Amino acid sequence: MKIGFIGLGHMGSGMAANLVRAGHEVIVYNRSAEKRRPLVELGAREARNVADTCEGEVVLTMLADDAALRDVSLGDGGIVARLRKGSVHISMSTVSVDLTRELAKAHERAGQKFVAAPVFGRPEMAAAAKLFIVAAGEPGVIKHCQPLLDVLGQKTFELGADPAAASLVKLSGNFMIASVIETFGEALALVGKGGIDPRQFVDIMSSTLFPAPAYRTYGTLIAERKFEPAGFAAPLGRKDVRLLRAAAESLRVPMPLASLLNDRFVRLLADGGERLDWSAIGRLAADDAGLARTTAS
Ligand code: NAP
Repeated sequence: MKIGFIGLGHMGSGMAANLVRAGHEVIVYNRSAEKRRPLVELGAREARNVADTCEGEVVLTMLADDAALRDVSLGDGGIVARLRKGSVHISMSTVSVDLTRELAKAHERAGQKFVAAPVFGRPEMAAAAKLFIVAAGEPGVIKHCQPLLDVLGQKTFELGADPAAASLVKLSGNFMIASVIETFGEALALVGKGGIDPRQFVDIMSSTLFPAPAYRTYGTLIAERKFEPAGFAAPLGRKDVRLLRAAAESLRVPMPLASLLNDRFVRLLADGGERLDWSAIGRLAADDAGLARTTAS
């Protein structure tokens, strides 16, 4: 297929590379031009602007947040203005439920198709094509795009015709991961101050009661205090908690744990954590407990 790909950050660079390697004709665009170069060297075509990515059947976006996706999609020369009728925009960023709805309507008015397909998995999983994709949109359109999704991920979960469902599921999943980070942070502060090796604690927990990737991955990052380089940057984690709380408020669902996590992110960012991985909120319980920081972060 002829595909446009916009957003070559931590996630998008590996995803676009997989599409090129799978033999698709990929036209890549990234706001900062230097990130386009490795993809061009791999065989992608370089777009000079968003409009240039819109000549094919499908355009995928993997952008930081609502503001970025809004600029690229709804701005002058954006995807809605440039994509051909009948072509598909697959939006894979983690964005708000409201923007997802707005984009679905804008594409519908323009005679285009829209699928929300955010992902679970960090950059290593994106590069290894092991993402879990939660997709919502017209079933026939998802089916048509499935070969592309299969290049990017190990499994796609379909959530029905309303794209907003995919954003709600993605935000809820990230809320659960952030909760795991906080839980581990508190437990590790306790066992650490009690003189127990944090790595051994992570080993015990993630091989017995909690044998899930989120426990293994984040427990290890917190135990090793390895928050740089960021795989998923703290400001993006904060963004997801903020978007989750907005969705919860509009559905009138109290989520007290989300409020606590929001404060954790505010504190981390106030304390110079902009460049750290979001798992760095897991060090705050240790700070509260007066445990010395053992890394530069
Ligand atoms: P990232 O490395 O920060 O990349 C963000 C991308 O958005 C870059 O291409 C950036 O372009 C672009 N961008 C930002 N603002 C823009 C604007 N106003 N106009 C045009 N482009 C703009 O982020 P990421 O980690 O790849 O994450 C991308 C999305 O995936 C986010 O929604 C994130 O929540 C989600 N996600 C991330 C992970 C993860 O572990 N990292 C996992 C699952 C989902 P520049 O290069 O020019 O700044």
